Amino acid sequence: MADAFSVNRRENYVHSAVSDTTGHGGDVFETLGYFAPDAEFNLYRVIAENGRTRRGDLVQAIADASRHGLDFLNVSVGIAHHEEDDYDCGGHCRVADEARLAIEDGLILVSAAGNRRQDDPLAVNCPARVDNAIGVGGFVSHCRSDLIESDASGQYWVRNEGLQGPFCGQQGCSPDRSCAEHRYEKPWSGNVAFRNAIPDVLAPVHHPVDSQGTPLLQSGTSFAAPIVCGILVAIAGDLLELGVNPTSAEFQTAVTQGAAALDEGEIGKFQAGETWDLLQEMSSSTS
Ligand SMILES: [Zn+2]
Ligand SMILES: [Zn+2]
Ligand SMILES: [Zn+2]
Repeated sequence: MADAFSVNRRENYVHSAVSDTTGHGGDVFETLGYFAPDAEFNLYRVIAENGRTRRGDLVQAIADASRHGLDFLNVSVGIAHHEEDDYDCGGHCRVADEARLAIEDGLILVSAAGNRRQDDPLAVNCPARVDNAIGVGGFVSHCRSDLIESDASGQYWVRNEGLQGPFCGQQGCSPDRSCAEHRYEKPWSGNVAFRNAIPDVLAPVHHPVDSQGTPLLQSGTSFAAPIVCGILVAIAGDLLELGVNPTSAEFQTAVTQGAAALDEGEIGKFQAGETWDLLQEMSSSTS
């Protein structure tokens, strides 16, 4: 799958003989590649077979990504700080420090806000917690139209723990009506508590996978972040051809200001077109 895209480097921080420790990186890469098919990628493997990521490995991977001169880094892992009473390091852990350094050096870092565990809302993970990182939480789009037995409706129904359909596939719910009027968009119930930091934007959390022939719907902010990152990479590539090369701060401002309100909550959902427009406006006002 990774062979379909241009990969310059594969860095491995996990001592494992298997080629794919959990499949997570592959799932995330699939989304990045979908939105930014012409980009050149470096892959940094930090998740072990047990699903865990060591803090030191994440720190090193961020440092290496910065040293390798990447323009963007998608981080679909996070440190939940279980050792702290309120699951928050105050932005002072090694991961946060390294992320800040990398961003100061010009890296645009997009990171998943994190997922709550059962009934424990936790808090925004590091490095998404870092102010200058583009933190991405999740939203879901329910369809309030009657279920229609047609692929064209785009509707999909799910019965997973913590996931209840029908969801809107953003197509036409019925042949003669726009989907938009039926849509009810709200923050994902699996988001962490946004008490230590507020994500910059929300994006869809559902990711369909084929698990040994059985279709399965995964959910998590890990799948929301690469939608934002992949689209930003594509925007950056197009803007570069126009001679526009926005900074990390400009990308972050455009993402936040370009977001559109959901039906619930204070944080908006990612809007590619508005983000693009704002980045172009910023460049013409400064040059
Ligand atoms: Zn931290
Ligand atoms: Zn609908
Ligand atoms: Zn729909």
